[in-house]
Amino acid sequence: MRIPIIGGNWKMHRGVPKDAKEMLEQLIPLVKDLKNVDIVIIPPFTALSVVEYVKGTNIKIGAQNMYFEEKGAFTGEISPKFLKDIGCEYVILGHSERRDIFKESNELINKKLKKALSIGLKPIVCIGEHLEEREQGKTKDIIKSQFEGTFKGLSKEDINKVVIAYEPIWAIGTGKTATPDQANEVHQYIRELLSSNYDKELSENLRIQYGGSVNPSNASELFEKENIDGGLVGGASLEADSFAKIIKVTQI
Ligand code: PEP
Repeated sequence: MRIPIIGGNWKMHRGVPKDAKEMLEQLIPLVKDLKNVDIVIIPPFTALSVVEYVKGTNIKIGAQNMYFEEKGAFTGEISPKFLKDIGCEYVILGHSERRDIFKESNELINKKLKKALSIGLKPIVCIGEHLEEREQGKTKDIIKSQFEGTFKGLSKEDINKVVIAYEPIWAIGTGKTATPDQANEVHQYIRELLSSNYDKELSENLRIQYGGSVNPSNASELFEKENIDGGLVGGASLEADSFAKIIKVTQI
């Protein structure tokens, strides 16, 4: 059985530790009794100190990005080792905002991914198509090339530790959600890629989250789909109440 995972990607919001703590103060009691769900809060780097605050709770902390080297002259970059050493468990890699705005390539994400795995961080790897690509019927081609480029050279043991987030770019921060069937179809396709590149057992066990305007009203129809194992949530993860409602959907 795949345990659903709900990530709250705060992007460039709530980056002051006090603001992050305020949200967590409200979230912790709302979700403390929930079982069989992994809850991850992914704040900006400046608020990662909340790892201390959530100790002993069922909330884990992730980072939004990292570099592929551990130390050196890389001004402005963040070492995966620092993340690991402060108690960060997860890291998002290949978010579409990194791919599009900061021009991160599959090759770069692949390097980061291999490094994250070697350090013991759990990667949440995002893939997804643009609207024009979907409209031109190229969704599967894009997913395949991102899959092959991003996961190149990964052993079965390594990919087993990855969470994949399918995030259609046209649905991120736009209020437009993929329909449950549209999302499920791509998740199914990702499982086919996992099966052909690795094996069936792995494809059935790996968690694939959906991301793109998930909110308390649409979460249940998405999460009840066979191939969808929770969500990566942006806007609706900023307030404790709405994020808790989304997490609770996994308990039904
Ligand atoms: C995201 O940041 O990964 C995301 C899916 O954002 P939103 O939920 O706001 O669309």
